[in-house]
Amino acid sequence: MAIGRTIWNFFFGCHHRQLSRAFTSQGETYKVCLKCGARLAYSWETMSVVPEKKQTRKVANGPSR
Ligand SMILES: [Zn+2]
Repeated sequence: MAIGRTIWNFFFGCHHRQLSRAFTSQGETYKVCLKCGARLAYSWETMSVVPEKKQTRKVANGPSR
């Protein structure tokens, strides 16, 4: 069961440390978790992953296709 991880991701985002390099697609830059496949917004300004709380909520209805 992955419910524990899902809840963790819901509150804290991905907690893994094995991330791909940064990708830029459709104006958004992100890294992909190599463990769970989560997409984490990445900022070139801070050179780090953007915390969930600072991200906009435009994907509230799920990932776009
Ligand atoms: Zn992960």
